[in-house]
Amino acid sequence: MKNDSISTVGNVSLKGALGVRLDAMIANHVAATDVDYITAPFMEKTETRRWWQTEFWGKWMHSAVPYMEYMGNRERGTGNGSGKRGTGNGALAASVARGVERMLSSQEPCGYIGNYPDELRCGEGWDVWGMKYTMMGLMHYYDYSTRQESAGTAIPGAPSAAAALDACRRLCDYLIAELGPNGRRGIALWQTGNWCGMASSSVLEPVVWLFRRTGEAKYLDFASYIVEGLTVPEEGPRLVDLALNGISVADRNGYGNKAESDNAYVMKHNRWKAYEMMSCYQGMIEYAEAKKEQLKNENEGLSQVACRMSQGKGLDDLLNAAIMTAEDIAKEEVNLAGGCATSEAWFHGASKQHIQYTRLQETCVTTTWMRLCEKLLDITGNPIWADRLEQTFYNAYLGAMKSDGAEFAGYTPLNGSRWHGQHHCFMHTDCCTANGPRGFLAFLRKFFIADGDTATLNFYASALAHAELADGRTVAFDIYSLYPRANKARLVCHTEGDFTLRLRIPSTCTAATVTLNGTAIDGARPGEYFAIKRTWALGDIVEAEFTMPVIAHVVGNHAAFTRGPVLLARDSRFADGDLSEPFHPRSFTEGQNCDELFSSIRPPSDDIWMCFTATLPLGSHDANPDGALPSSATFCDYASAGNTWRRTDYYRTFFPIELGPTDK
Ligand SMILES: [Zn+2]
Repeated sequence: MKNDSISTVGNVSLKGALGVRLDAMIANHVAATDVDYITAPFMEKTETRRWWQTEFWGKWMHSAVPYMEYMGNRERGTGNGSGKRGTGNGALAASVARGVERMLSSQEPCGYIGNYPDELRCGEGWDVWGMKYTMMGLMHYYDYSTRQESAGTAIPGAPSAAAALDACRRLCDYLIAELGPNGRRGIALWQTGNWCGMASSSVLEPVVWLFRRTGEAKYLDFASYIVEGLTVPEEGPRLVDLALNGISVADRNGYGNKAESDNAYVMKHNRWKAYEMMSCYQGMIEYAEAKKEQLKNENEGLSQVACRMSQGKGLDDLLNAAIMTAEDIAKEEVNLAGGCATSEAWFHGASKQHIQYTRLQETCVTTTWMRLCEKLLDITGNPIWADRLEQTFYNAYLGAMKSDGAEFAGYTPLNGSRWHGQHHCFMHTDCCTANGPRGFLAFLRKFFIADGDTATLNFYASALAHAELADGRTVAFDIYSLYPRANKARLVCHTEGDFTLRLRIPSTCTAATVTLNGTAIDGARPGEYFAIKRTWALGDIVEAEFTMPVIAHVVGNHAAFTRGPVLLARDSRFADGDLSEPFHPRSFTEGQNCDELFSSIRPPSDDIWMCFTATLPLGSHDANPDGALPSSATFCDYASAGNTWRRTDYYRTFFPIELGPTDK
């Protein structure tokens, strides 16, 4: 039972503006990471404060391995249908191998890999969390080196795939012995670490991965034990019953746990920590899938009803709880930038997005939400999850990435300035910069996918995209698109034969037209997939055009504007007036089409991706003849706003609407 999809990236080579940004991020961030620096804590073992220095290496591996494949695909001009995988960038491959070598050398005879002294291990703080990322890193290496070894391209002297998997096994065995059922530490895993045990319990995801790679039942049993901790104890996270009862993520404190607060930050016993909660649901989905596969194998020959009777119902509850929670997050928490959480906690943020909340949309939350959307697209096939991934990608995600890709902001406000991330645990990195590159992967992995005899294009950008059909054929399209700056995409077919191409029609457009070799095909509807089934010829051209008007959004007497998936912002760099100027009373209503007020213009500088000029009812004192006239203002995409990372550059997305005497 093997599944190496976690460590692969799909076969897409991005070009254009996105391709430039991705290449820069890989070069200046992923490949530039000093592996000795991030593995030093494992060798030095100096931790006394129960911090999280041990998450950085695993997070880095989680992106380094797939980006090696991405670069390998690019170097070869992308896939040739031979099934061979690229060897990736040599320097990065050497760093990866060196890091694994150092990690393996740091493993203690008991199996532990980490930097806590024995008396502090497996308890308060981030020790189990660190083990989670170490296991993830080791399994990324296992998948990668397995592919390299079978292709005969392994680096001479690099640790073997078997050695990495063995180290991961021994680490997990250590964790089971310490915190598993009847473990040496005498407490349950969910009782360790922060936030009702959600931080520690998110180790569930790599425990399921380990089961998939080893097939050893004890790891699936351990996963079952973790799921029990996440769902059963009254004081625990209770990820199933609260979700199935429709309790919104921000309202889940209490119900047996001790809700605490410390001014503006989330405390240990609370259930509202966004990143950790979503990570646990991600693990629960992986667990339910693995367990269902196992039941299916065991029950082969039994009727469907009999299968369902044997635990299937409980697994459906896990999946439904994850889906319902994600739908709740999308409705209650996600803002127009596709970001969420204040101070890393749920707070019914969607209805409060016009108000200034502190530490908004942590990049860890952004990337974890993107990973969850990716997973939900997998298990539901519903394109709404691609829409949500896209919204977050073009706004909160790209907005958090520094222009040169070298680092990620920790938090990005909807109104404010952007700034460097933090320095965590006395190190020159932080959780968000370490997590940042993982977000782009969610976009790349779902860009162009195949299932059976159908290839699906989920996103639009200039790219050369390949996907492999079930019968082994590779289909390829060369795509030209400035989307979402422009509203068109043109695909040229590079594959002959019978297959179906599906295009995701974004839910943020109001209409779409699709043509094949210049002839319109009816039936494309926003929010759905549009399928073209035919015998394709080389050079067939599909063109899609989306109607994407600028739309007003009104929240709490403030207005903001989107165009397609992109949130618009004013930026002080345009020097065109006070950004806090209000709109005249009742200027805008929710959902209003404002297309006639906005015109797309050429950006004034290369660091701004999209630019619009708008004629708007701006300013107070509308009795003043000058003030009563519409004013013009310049807008750019949210991700470009404030991207100089200078405090003097201020941007704003929500603008006050003046009230009249009967308004509330
Ligand atoms: Zn973070």
